[in-house]
Amino acid sequence: MAAFKTLDDLGDVTGKVALVRVDLNLPMKDGSATDVTRVEAVKPTVLELADKGAKVLLLAHFGRPGGKRSSVLSTSFVQGDVEEVLGKEIMFIPELSGPVVDQSISILRNGDIGLLDNTRFWPGEEGNDPGFAQAIASHGDLYVNDAFSAAHRAHATTEGLAHHLPAFAGRAMERELNALDAALGNPEQPVAAVVGGAKVSTKLAVLENLVGKVQHLIIGGGMANTFLAARGVDVGKSLCEHDLTDTASKIMDEADHAGCTVHLPYDVVVAREFAPNPPSLRTCNVHEVAADEMILDIGPSATEALADVLKTCRTLVWNGPLGAFETEPFDAATMALARHVAALTQEGSLTSVAGGGDTVAALAQAGVTADVTYISTAGGAFLEWMEGKVLPGVAALAD
Ligand code: ADP
Ligand code: MG
Repeated sequence: MAAFKTLDDLGDVTGKVALVRVDLNLPMKDGSATDVTRVEAVKPTVLELADKGAKVLLLAHFGRPGGKRSSVLSTSFVQGDVEEVLGKEIMFIPELSGPVVDQSISILRNGDIGLLDNTRFWPGEEGNDPGFAQAIASHGDLYVNDAFSAAHRAHATTEGLAHHLPAFAGRAMERELNALDAALGNPEQPVAAVVGGAKVSTKLAVLENLVGKVQHLIIGGGMANTFLAARGVDVGKSLCEHDLTDTASKIMDEADHAGCTVHLPYDVVVAREFAPNPPSLRTCNVHEVAADEMILDIGPSATEALADVLKTCRTLVWNGPLGAFETEPFDAATMALARHVAALTQEGSLTSVAGGGDTVAALAQAGVTADVTYISTAGGAFLEWMEGKVLPGVAALAD
């Protein structure tokens, strides 16, 4: 990974205006946030800059206003939540540039924090218009990007600003980039990847990237059914993309050439109906799935074999649950894997990095959120990174 500057490289920022891109796209209900994890994530960066005497201006998008002002999508709606998490009052500024921003900056004291309005109210944001970025940049002395979750988009405040001002990674961005680098950029070998989830079609690019990078590719979840079908297994009524079996075979061939071992389950948990603890529940060999049965989790032997593979590995990257974990008992393999990964990480034998909306939920359900090396909550940006793509927001920091 190319080098990027961090807050350690700032120098004296007393009285300087720091434009800080953060993720404040909070889930809302009845006018207040239901989850402030994203604010907590950027708190260290914001407070560090304030403590160093900068005037901190927060830039964030909120929802999808589509390039025009929307009375219900102003970032002022999250001002209270941000103040609560930061433990500080902040000033809301209903613009991104122009005289109102100038006036506000002149009122702010060193160490004060301002919140600009929704960057996506202006079409120049998503259009990454250089003139628009320049107008925002004219108010600042430096740019800090602490929103990895938006780094897969080349927008004015996620990418463009880095071309107009000295650019730095915030603390959350720095942690995320270091964790991702330790997992796939420059990992300790051997490396295992666990890829699960519902469908192969949503993760083709991920699988294709991983076979060239890891020694073990462990496939679970619904997508394992497509791989099993490609090997001639009759998966009954399971979720399976039969039109992608050739693609699955091709990925297995590529893995062979690259020296990557693909692990598919050899036992599975099946049922005739998809419901909690259904009467038809049973565990069987993959070759014994009946025509009217669905595979809903990988089996206990496969889970144990997977755990043995991880014991031999130094690094794990994990995206996607191994079964339909929202419904008992189809969470068993995912929960067992989560606990095993947590234990190996705590013993110091494994660096473990996981991401993906449902994967994050599964780790929380297993109660091991604090016991793995790093959990990415970045969603789309995390998946694009798993696909091996260069993220424009990250590349701009590295220039
Ligand atoms: P993430 O959000 O972590 O990237 P995905 O969205 O790709 O993960 O996949 C998660 C979904 O896959 C879950 O809703 C889970 O129920 C489903 N799933 C996993 N295994 C199976 C299976 N065997 N059959 C049907 N759905 C499954
Ligand atoms: Mg998901």
